[in-house]
Amino acid sequence: MNLVDFTNRFSSESACEEHPIALRWPSGFCCPKCGSRNAMRVQAAHRRNAVNRVPLFVCKDCHRQTSVTSGTIFHKSQTPLTKWFVAIYLVANDKGGIAATTLERALGVSYPTAWVRLESC
Ligand SMILES: [Zn+2]
Repeated sequence: MNLVDFTNRFSSESACEEHPIALRWPSGFCCPKCGSRNAMRVQAAHRRNAVNRVPLFVCKDCHRQTSVTSGTIFHKSQTPLTKWFVAIYLVANDKGGIAATTLERALGVSYPTAWVRLESC
């Protein structure tokens, strides 16, 4: 998939949110605590930046709340998922290793953000 196809596919936060959900729970959500499939999906707005409202699954049996991004490099990040996805694409497709300064320019994020993200990967 080239960069144009990639950015078309993951052009919105919701498109980026659905991808890890499908990867993590290919046959539907399953509560990591009790194994129940009886859950409701809500939008969480715990990030100060309201652009990002991470979907949350609430188990109807044990009431555990599971964020789609919990346990991933995206967890509690204030960087939009659309930028994360492009960063991952660029890193994954650059055989020589992409510089944090290149990501900073390409994504419009600060150098520390680009650096931390690279470190996190
Ligand atoms: Zn549960």
